[in-house]
Amino acid sequence: MKPGNRTFFSGAHTSRRVVLRAGAAAGVIGATGMASTRTAFAAGEAAAGPRSYDAIVIGGGFAGVTAARALRAQGKSTLIIEARDRVGGRAWTATFSGQQVEFGATWIHPSQTLVWNEVQRLGLGTVTDANPDFTVFATESGGYAKQDLEFLDHQDVLLRRFVEGAEQYLPRAYDPFYKESLLVERDKLTLGDRARQLRLSTLEQNWVSATTGAYGGGFERGSLTQLAHWWALCGYNTETFHGINSIRPAGGMSGLISRILAESGASIVYKAPVTEVSDDGARVRVTAGGLVYDAAAVVVAVPANVWNSIKFTYGLPAEFSRLSSQTVGVPTAKKILIQVKGDIGRPLVNGASGALLDLVLTNTAMSSLGSVLTAFSVHPTLDVNSVSQVQSAISQVLPGAQVLSVKGQDWGKDAYSKGGWTFRRPGQLLGELRAVRQPYGRLVFAGSDIATGWGGYVDGAIETGIRAAGLVSGLRAAKGSTTG
Ligand SMILES: Cc1cc2nc3c(=O)[nH]c(=O)nc-3n(C[C@H](O)[C@H](O)[C@H](O)COP(=O)(O)OP(=O)(O)OC[C@H]3O[C@@H](n4cnc5c(N)ncnc54)[C@H](O)[C@@H]3O)c2cc1C
Repeated sequence: MKPGNRTFFSGAHTSRRVVLRAGAAAGVIGATGMASTRTAFAAGEAAAGPRSYDAIVIGGGFAGVTAARALRAQGKSTLIIEARDRVGGRAWTATFSGQQVEFGATWIHPSQTLVWNEVQRLGLGTVTDANPDFTVFATESGGYAKQDLEFLDHQDVLLRRFVEGAEQYLPRAYDPFYKESLLVERDKLTLGDRARQLRLSTLEQNWVSATTGAYGGGFERGSLTQLAHWWALCGYNTETFHGINSIRPAGGMSGLISRILAESGASIVYKAPVTEVSDDGARVRVTAGGLVYDAAAVVVAVPANVWNSIKFTYGLPAEFSRLSSQTVGVPTAKKILIQVKGDIGRPLVNGASGALLDLVLTNTAMSSLGSVLTAFSVHPTLDVNSVSQVQSAISQVLPGAQVLSVKGQDWGKDAYSKGGWTFRRPGQLLGELRAVRQPYGRLVFAGSDIATGWGGYVDGAIETGIRAAGLVSGLRAAKGSTTG
């Protein structure tokens, strides 16, 4: 096999061009570099700014910002309301040990055409991570052993068994419903059910956990059809399945989204969590940061796990609240940057099922202190900022490695995410996904969590943002002008 960087998850220099100015609480301010038609307010002037727009987008992640750009392209006055002091949501480029790193989304791939084309069009360039030089896997005795890269073939054999038949039951990657009858029974299965169907031994399950069970937030949480859907999107081959985790946009994910925001021409208000949305059939009123805004249509582009935290005055269809309470984003998803002493090479650690760390790799340059590792975990209790907990987890898999400092992001504990990467649960593909993609009154929902393509990736967020703006223009045709 061709060794590649074999992970789902994993910074780079970014010129974060967010326009929050010091002390701006709930201030409506124009996005940097946007068109001259934008509405721009200085910090603290929000109360004097417009409250009525053609369209409001709740949430400034990739779905929300691309929706806003498409709405502006339709000529609509558009406001993005964002809870944090930054755009990007689950994509967040920051600094650790003197390096630019990613605490959320990291990689892009040519097969993810929407995000790939954004990077090409903007001329941002890409960085390809170096391959690992050794790997670590669980052993029969319950410990771990260093292995050469050929050992990864064992993992691939098991992975292919998991998704065997996907060419038949998911023949069109971007239309997962095309062979719905073949999915009815499969969509009920967890990854654990599938492992039992395949009669995998505990050791085999441990070897494949980092590329199956851990993706799903544990073998008993994630659905087989989500894994098979990613497999289909990767062209049913392991090279792409691993290759999707090796190329980064040169300016980091925050750099990319800042450029998209800048060209959108939308206005944006930061640090303004939306608490209530009230659609009376003619206008939608949105309460955020103590102010009430209104628009002819609203794109709700917050994570599905967060939907139930917002009060929808007239309620939502049951599918929405069910999806939100069941969770779509993995609720225990964590990412941790780890500074270790000295040069420990380029490991690729595949944690056993239930391990503190599911995946450990290095995809940054050495710092002056030594290697910087990136780890992913879906362990429910791991404290992502505890040096001692991370040291004890690292000692199990990389004996002798000395942890100097850690910085992590626990996405499940983040009030504006309540989970990490998308990984649907059993039944959600056939049960709720189609319903929540339909407009409800003057509301249209967006987000990677409800993509029919690359759900769980930035590409899927962009897919739904563009689609949501199209659905909003359909609302306009049906219910009168929304232009202003
Ligand atoms: C650890 C990790 C690694 C990942 N790795 C990759 C990768 O390598 N490549 C890849 O393509 N994808 C990756 N992903 C997935 C990717 O980050 C997401 O699919 C994508 O960023 C989701 O975009 P979104 O716009 O749908 O949602 P989000 O990014 O979550 O954006 C939603 C926005 O809504 C805001 N919001 C929430 N509540 C409110 C409220 N009440 N009022 C106002 N605003 C609110 C949030 O602050 C946020 O800005 C990873 C995710 C994680 C967690």
